[in-house]
Amino acid sequence: MKNDSEFFNNLRHSCAHLLAAAVMELWPKAKRTIGPAIENGFYFDFDFGNVKISDDDLPKIEAKMRDILTSWKSFERQELSVAQAKKEYPDNEFKQELIDEFSGQGETLSFYKSGDYWDLCRGGHVEHPDSELKYFKLLSIAGAYWRGSEKNKMLTRVYGTCFPTKKELDDYLWQQEEAKKRDHRKIGKELGLFLISPNVGPGLPIYLPKGLLLRRTLETWLTREKEKRGYQFVWTPHIAKSDLYKQSKHWQKYDAMMKPMKIEDERYVVKPMNCPHHFQIYLERPRSYRELPLRISENATVYRYEKAGELNGLLRVRALTQDDSHTFVRHDQIPEEIDRILDLAVSVFQIFGFHDFRSRVSIRDKKRPGKYLGKPESWDKAEQALIDGVAKRKLPYFISEGEAAFYGPKIDLMVKDAIGREWQLTTVQLDFNQPENFDLSYVDEKGKMERPAVLHIAILGSFDRFLAILVEQYAGNFPLWLAPVQLALVPIAERHNRAAFDAAEKLRSVGIRVEVDDRNERMEAKIRDSSLQKVPYLGIIGDKEVENQTISVRKHNGEDLKSMSVEELLRKLTSEIESKA
Ligand SMILES: [Zn+2]
Ligand SMILES: [Zn+2]
Repeated sequence: MKNDSEFFNNLRHSCAHLLAAAVMELWPKAKRTIGPAIENGFYFDFDFGNVKISDDDLPKIEAKMRDILTSWKSFERQELSVAQAKKEYPDNEFKQELIDEFSGQGETLSFYKSGDYWDLCRGGHVEHPDSELKYFKLLSIAGAYWRGSEKNKMLTRVYGTCFPTKKELDDYLWQQEEAKKRDHRKIGKELGLFLISPNVGPGLPIYLPKGLLLRRTLETWLTREKEKRGYQFVWTPHIAKSDLYKQSKHWQKYDAMMKPMKIEDERYVVKPMNCPHHFQIYLERPRSYRELPLRISENATVYRYEKAGELNGLLRVRALTQDDSHTFVRHDQIPEEIDRILDLAVSVFQIFGFHDFRSRVSIRDKKRPGKYLGKPESWDKAEQALIDGVAKRKLPYFISEGEAAFYGPKIDLMVKDAIGREWQLTTVQLDFNQPENFDLSYVDEKGKMERPAVLHIAILGSFDRFLAILVEQYAGNFPLWLAPVQLALVPIAERHNRAAFDAAEKLRSVGIRVEVDDRNERMEAKIRDSSLQKVPYLGIIGDKEVENQTISVRKHNGEDLKSMSVEELLRKLTSEIESKA
């Protein structure tokens, strides 16, 4: 499989031309605008005037695209003058605007022609469209404002995708179908995990009891894993003086959510980052080389602006709780510390069944030195330490030039989920610059003052986003140790309620999460509901069970485990919880 992003961009943007050609034949009065490649596909925006088109029109458009494709042997470039170009789009104010803009910037106006169709375009196409564009699919229709601004006209956006082979297209379409079934917003609602209330605000998730149980189980476990590796946990407030973020230079980067509030003549903001808070902990007293590495950690909620259109359940929110750590190290400790962090990350993800890793090392764009804080020599050293770190772990990696943050290079760890989608999770950011901003120092062996480096580390990223990914990874069928309800007890008739509540109390007292379904419903209905709630274990209690002091146990997957005593069941559940299987 070809993996080159330029290859896919050319393929998919070429297919957007084909889509526009088909639309213009079917609706000659439609106005074309733009049709870029995007991640996993492409779109094209049209102004259809008073004509309404819907998903039902997609097969017709696809058929027309196939028709046209046979005559598309190549993309031929031609340059036009402004006047000639404008003549091509007599009633199309969108293209007129683009032509004015491109020519105003001194760009040559190029057109690309395939078969009988041509369009204004900067280029980037396949060489042999008739053979290369065969495996496409139109996916959906949505509204989109011209140039993304709600002040402009609402256009009709047609989404599609294109792959070099039939297999890749089929795999992608299967993955999309599967992703819809696993959508964490849908499952989150069915299982009662979280809600977004319009009265609280978009992007501000509210965790319901079961969602918080899940999140707290994750938090407690990860906190323990970090403590085992020498991390110390702290708590810091949600607001801080705005000057703090001026010192850290975050002020310019996160301004949208950082509207200051005034308290007693001082200006405060909600925090978008925890780093400067943790630096205060470092600065609390003079530090010696013996104290390093000093690993400060916090499960901290931060607030960041995301566009309303980009918010997505728990995946993209405006209030997120990071598993954030700041490790202060001597420069000679960097390689070993990087190795320890990667070890932690890989062992964490394997617990959840993620085994396919890839890492990206983001380094600076050397052609734009003004964009970055700090000395070039520090950057060279930092970048090399990160590359050596992933290479030593034998993690597959690639280097992304120009993707580094303004204060340092970083490593991102990506994993593939159960249906083959890739998620970026862990971020390790090396930083030689914030220690300068905050004048962090330590006394070395010879009594000389030195600057430490800082590592900003998030293993899961945020608990919110990771939870969304886990819901989709497991399709809501959480392993026992994570399941918000681990066991549902179903008394067959009212006279069995007492035995069920007694058993529940025993199990609950040792930490098993049990629910008793004593509703006045038929047993079959109760069993079905526990299955819909994806509860891993179901225990049924009737006359026979009361008499023998047992519970009839079955698993969510249908496996029947027969009758067992409460003690036996407890041992079984406990060992499965401990194994995290
Ligand atoms: Zn083009
Ligand atoms: Zn940080």
